[in-house]
Amino acid sequence: MINDNGESTAERPVIPSRYSRQILFDGIGEEGQARIIAARVALVGCGALGTVQASLLARAGVGMLRIIDRDFVEESNLQRQILFDEDDVRHLVPKAVAAEKKLRAANSRVRVEGLVEDVNASTITRLLDGFDLIVDGSDNFDVRYLVNDYAVKTGTPWVYGACVGSYGLTFPILPGETACLQCVFESAPPAGFAPTCDTAGVIGPIVGTIASFQVAEALKILAGRRDKISRRITALDLWDNRREGFDLPPRNPNCHCCGRRQFDYLDGTLGADATTLCGRNSVQIRRRDETHVDLDALAQRLAQLGILEKNRFLLRARIDDYQLTIFANGRAIISGTYDLAVAKSLYSRYVGA
Ligand SMILES: [Zn+2]
Repeated sequence: MINDNGESTAERPVIPSRYSRQILFDGIGEEGQARIIAARVALVGCGALGTVQASLLARAGVGMLRIIDRDFVEESNLQRQILFDEDDVRHLVPKAVAAEKKLRAANSRVRVEGLVEDVNASTITRLLDGFDLIVDGSDNFDVRYLVNDYAVKTGTPWVYGACVGSYGLTFPILPGETACLQCVFESAPPAGFAPTCDTAGVIGPIVGTIASFQVAEALKILAGRRDKISRRITALDLWDNRREGFDLPPRNPNCHCCGRRQFDYLDGTLGADATTLCGRNSVQIRRRDETHVDLDALAQRLAQLGILEKNRFLLRARIDDYQLTIFANGRAIISGTYDLAVAKSLYSRYVGA
């Protein structure tokens, strides 16, 4: 039944007419749309990939969309992060907050929840508990292996995606059924080995393409069309006109994660507490024990040392050649260095370790 007026019942849910074109599409139909409306989806990261994923999923009508991102909007994001604008840059708006606001305006029927949080071993269970699907919009392997651990342990499907330059890669992971991230890539490429958005840059079209592939797989999973789910690794280079696909390998019975079920990232034995950030001359520091920083008191202490900006989410200080952005939970982004030790030192000197 397609209308905007009737009463919805469990047996016969009312499907809003705004989804008519998606319902007309044979692969989804009314039944698929009803499943999509009932689904809860979590996005890990809302940068380049995440803004496209979030927009497509909210417009497609998922019941609940949780957007988790730890960063704030910067001017260099606007080239490819399609949910954000210059006002967000001027007001240092966290990405999760900006995304929530814009998506609520795009589709008020979706419960959109933007959380300014870091996904790490101590937060992931709280942040992802109870979701039907996880979509990867992150920019580093620590988080991806952590999400993989969580997804395999809980049996939650997730869709991997990554881009750099004009190249991107994506595949869906169905725990217990397909290869997991660690079956495909046993370990992350060593630091400095693989190109990053910082060394190679990135163009908007590859981001939009990979995110669209991810959301297509997401819709198949949510609509209950497992027969249609890709069992391949999709690899694209839009500049060099290469479109490649590889069959996903079979599940590795000796895989540390899905074979032996040893979840080192989830247990917190792997994964750093300081990480360099892709695409920026920056290091993120986070405390394993989450804490609360009194931003007002800290602002007073730092005011004499450098230029200070502050809103209710974060405090930013420019000290010497560095910029420190400190969030209320003690997390900090230190810009002006790639050196983890330098960043940790600045953190302990100005924020307190
Ligand atoms: Zn595996």
